[in-house]
Amino acid sequence: MQNSEIKTTCSYCGVGCGIIVTNDSKNGVSVTGDKNHPVNKGMLCSKGMNLHYVVNDTSDRILYPEMRWSKSHPMERVSWDTALERAAAVFTSIIKKHGPDSVGFYISGQCLTEEYYLVNKLVKGFLKTNNIDTNSRLCMSSAVVGYKKTFGEDAVPIAYDDIELADTFLITGANPAWCHPILFRRIEQHKEKNPKVKIIVVDPRKTDSALNADLHLQIIPGTDIILYHALAKRLIEQGYADTDFIKNHTENFKLYKDLVLASSLEKASKLCGIPVNDIKLAADIIGKAKGFLSLWAMGLNQSAIGVDKNTALLNLSLLTGQVGKPGSGPFSLTGQPNAMGGREVGGMANLLAVHKELNNPVHRKEVADFWGVEDISEKPGLTATEMFDALESGKMKAIWVICTNPLVSLPDSRRVEKALANAKFVVVQEISHNADTSKFADLLLPAAGWLEKEGTMTNSERRISYLPKGINAPGEALPDVEILTRFAKKMNFSGFNFNTTEDIYKEYCLMTKNTSIDISFLNYNRLKNEGTFQWPVPDYGHPGTPRLFTDKKFYTPSQKAIFNLPTAIENTSEQPSNQFPFILTTGRIRDQWHTMTKTGKVSRLMTHIPSPMLEINPIDAYKATIKSGDIVVVTSKNGTVRVKAKVSDSIREGVLFLPMHWGKQLENDLNRTNNLTNTVVDPTSKEPDFKFTTVSVAKYVKP
Ligand code: SF4
Repeated sequence: MQNSEIKTTCSYCGVGCGIIVTNDSKNGVSVTGDKNHPVNKGMLCSKGMNLHYVVNDTSDRILYPEMRWSKSHPMERVSWDTALERAAAVFTSIIKKHGPDSVGFYISGQCLTEEYYLVNKLVKGFLKTNNIDTNSRLCMSSAVVGYKKTFGEDAVPIAYDDIELADTFLITGANPAWCHPILFRRIEQHKEKNPKVKIIVVDPRKTDSALNADLHLQIIPGTDIILYHALAKRLIEQGYADTDFIKNHTENFKLYKDLVLASSLEKASKLCGIPVNDIKLAADIIGKAKGFLSLWAMGLNQSAIGVDKNTALLNLSLLTGQVGKPGSGPFSLTGQPNAMGGREVGGMANLLAVHKELNNPVHRKEVADFWGVEDISEKPGLTATEMFDALESGKMKAIWVICTNPLVSLPDSRRVEKALANAKFVVVQEISHNADTSKFADLLLPAAGWLEKEGTMTNSERRISYLPKGINAPGEALPDVEILTRFAKKMNFSGFNFNTTEDIYKEYCLMTKNTSIDISFLNYNRLKNEGTFQWPVPDYGHPGTPRLFTDKKFYTPSQKAIFNLPTAIENTSEQPSNQFPFILTTGRIRDQWHTMTKTGKVSRLMTHIPSPMLEINPIDAYKATIKSGDIVVVTSKNGTVRVKAKVSDSIREGVLFLPMHWGKQLENDLNRTNNLTNTVVDPTSKEPDFKFTTVSVAKYVKP
């Protein structure tokens, strides 16, 4: 690209904003928001508008493959052939000795759809293990299960354009003002033009989203289901239930109704820490809504009862008949740019492509036949945390990590350290030396980054975009699909004779034919020439599908949506004790992304919040004689973190907040929040409970 412009998509969050990139041979890459893009209409948040710094600064990039011949040898530069021959030899030998389940791949919601598809084919189809999982397990797997239980498939029913058609927003367990800023800006602009629009925010913290709300329900962590049931009770009692919709298009309402009517608003108020009148007010706003959108993210998903929280929230949309019509519906916010694309191609240990299930023998056979392999193992693959448990115990011997930094992002970082140290062979396929996990690599493979390769992504509203290659990757870095294809060939696997990324896309598209995701007629040309499309796109001239379920036909056998009852109503994580009396909740800040491998090198993004801070309520701080700026030590049963305190009434008494981004800034990684977090996961979604770890806090005293 020389002094030219290309249209692409932001590589940070799941909002999927359109970006125009200009490459000036003198000044390098610059970015602006694409005014004609349906998502952001020219707007970009702080992260998006600084993307060019990440691309232009290649000082941290891995430039060539590096390898060590044994754990006692130093890393040395090798050729791509040597690197991938060694990877093939080690994987072959481990699999021969210990079986296919002794190896695993841990990938990322930042991978492009073609990469996700290819690596799943490689692992599930040819390496014969289902040990492939993604860091999306950490952010939206509870929502996936929730959608499946309610609608029959993992299908987000809304379009972003429903924002401008809604009059009531219930934002719960999410802070879109900071984490999905352009969507929140659209909500704000809509409210500015239509003052009657109501925003309700449910959050234990007074976030920027809460500060912009008409009603903030400052909930006690873990009590979300109790609140949703109380809202449902009030909605039914006030006559707001959509009886026609419930009768004609849902199942299991009677049991749900009996359950919620047996609840008590007064009891809910006490357990949730929310005044009864606020619960009533929230229910009345929702009940009167013409267009009701519920938006949620990790606050619900990252929980020991994450799936139950999701279905309890989805029930509110069914109860009020607010699905499949303009301005209404449940709307899960995905954290990563291609978390949705990963879901489509079955990029998790328990999934197969196009919403097929690994535990279904018919589905396994269909996919095996499509790939031309004998079978796919029926044994469920290990999920994100399970893989690192297996490495620690020695059951798994080798792991291949692609585009993610588990040492900082997984719960209980000390355990992850032990697991990686115990692995016989660790491959890290990365763009940057900044990823803390790479210090455990036996083989380090340089990958091309955003703008250096082509492919597709799907955002939170099912919108597929094509991302062109605009510049060359530095050094010997290669696109991930090329690295994986070359490895597959070193393993002598057939089925990887792809000449281009588009060939991989075409193979995947063929698989979608006559499924709910059908994009069999959406080729690269249409994406390049006509822009983005929301799936399904089941015909050549089809414009895409902004809203699902407009015909009220769901993907369940009866075509009815299902009211699910929770297995547990109250939080099932560890409970506060005398030793660990506080609930620690973790989350994101406005200007940082994940583990800061990219945003951490942009100085203007570091000015917003330059170092991690522990938010603590003034009453708790007073009791512990902690002042803002004091260094404090936070301790859980798993580890310790040492950070500055920020005394603030934006957080509830008894609750503490730490941002999750920081890794190696302090000696012995003492800034790393996940030193503390517990390893509890939701029993079905296997999503970790980052929002509820019990801890103690004290002022740091220098030894
Ligand atoms: Fe990028 Fe998300 Fe910001 Fe849009 S909202 S510019 S996709 S980080």
